[in-house]
Amino acid sequence: MERLGEYIPIVGQSIIDDLKLLAERLKGKVIQQVNSTSVGGGVAEILNRMIPLLKELGVDSRWDFIKGGAQFFDVTKKFHNALHGKKEDITKHDFEIFEDTSRKNIEELDTYGDIVFIHDPQPVALVKKKKGNKWVWRCHIDVSRPNKDVWNFLKGYIKNYDSAVFSAPSFCQKMPIRQFLISPSIDPLSDKNRELPQQEIDAVLRKYEIEADKPIITQISRFDRLKDPVGVIDAYLQVKKYIDCQLILAGGTAVDDPEGAEVLAEVREKAKKDKDIHILLLPQNDLEVNALQRASTIIMQKSSREGFGLTVSEALWKTKPVVATDTGGIPLQIKHKYSGLLCHSIEGAAFAIKQLLNSPGYAKKLAENGREHVRNNFLITRHIRDYMLLFLSLYHPEDVVSL
Ligand code: UDP
Repeated sequence: MERLGEYIPIVGQSIIDDLKLLAERLKGKVIQQVNSTSVGGGVAEILNRMIPLLKELGVDSRWDFIKGGAQFFDVTKKFHNALHGKKEDITKHDFEIFEDTSRKNIEELDTYGDIVFIHDPQPVALVKKKKGNKWVWRCHIDVSRPNKDVWNFLKGYIKNYDSAVFSAPSFCQKMPIRQFLISPSIDPLSDKNRELPQQEIDAVLRKYEIEADKPIITQISRFDRLKDPVGVIDAYLQVKKYIDCQLILAGGTAVDDPEGAEVLAEVREKAKKDKDIHILLLPQNDLEVNALQRASTIIMQKSSREGFGLTVSEALWKTKPVVATDTGGIPLQIKHKYSGLLCHSIEGAAFAIKQLLNSPGYAKKLAENGREHVRNNFLITRHIRDYMLLFLSLYHPEDVVSL
């Protein structure tokens, strides 16, 4: 089914025409995207939407996965946390586990793409297979203050790529290869983000026994310590002393995230005495996530570290006021007091929530500004255009100014 045309009322005809022109120039090239999971987290979210659209544009883009066991994903989760600047005890054995699994993947995975586009650290070592093709490493993590040992280890691989892509200016690193800044995006036509009839939203609230006429504060995130779900509950409890409200923490776990169950247990323990806290597991239920975001009075993203934070754009696109931590890619999406409120602590988050609940007119204005900001910067059409320009630039290295 023709989907591209459906974006015209949202972004305008000229944007779609540009995409078609760029796609024409990529005819005949195979773009192979590689990551470690098809489900869970922002990377899978984006690729699931982007690959069909690239195909519709006539760009041959395919998606492959590396394989890894529990030990490997324990290590890569530690790498992930350490790259975000969290303290982690990483041993020589961890690096060996990473190399062993990487060796197997190097043997087993055919890197047939004219352009091999590798997402995040898990498959980074595949570059050892580099032949005549072009290699791009796409980093979705905030590596502005990484653990040095992990970063230096990964850099041994990254320097063999043709280019690297980061989501925000502050994430770039000193490296001998070209670096590009490309922010992620949301798809306004996906089940996660499309308009929903009010009856569907109400039905989801009924299903989870959430009251429609009491303010709802929501955070949608994997149960991951860096998303700070416990901090979300603390902020809610401070607000609750003054304003009767409900909290939804909806999450799931990703295949490559082994910490989820433990964090979920902590969250359940902390929430068990309050019937207004709803802990929901909805890993692959885009329509329900959409409905819950739309039913919410305020959306939170209280991450202590964040890559980009797609959930922020998802909320702003639905014209929701957002309270989020000033970290990672979040300040690209929220200009404080213009398209949402940024916070730096539990108390700050609680204060911002109270302010928004007490001033619906102000909350609405922030949310409206947020929606326009997302329309102009964080929709999938802009993202595809940037990627196509990047792909084309690989064949014209002399035209690009290096950082
Ligand atoms: N998500 C979801 N169900 C969940 C938790 C998250 O569908 O239970 C989605 C969320 O809506 C967003 C993505 O997963 O689209 C998470 O991306 P984000 O950049 O916010 O965080 P990441 O998980 O990549 O760190």
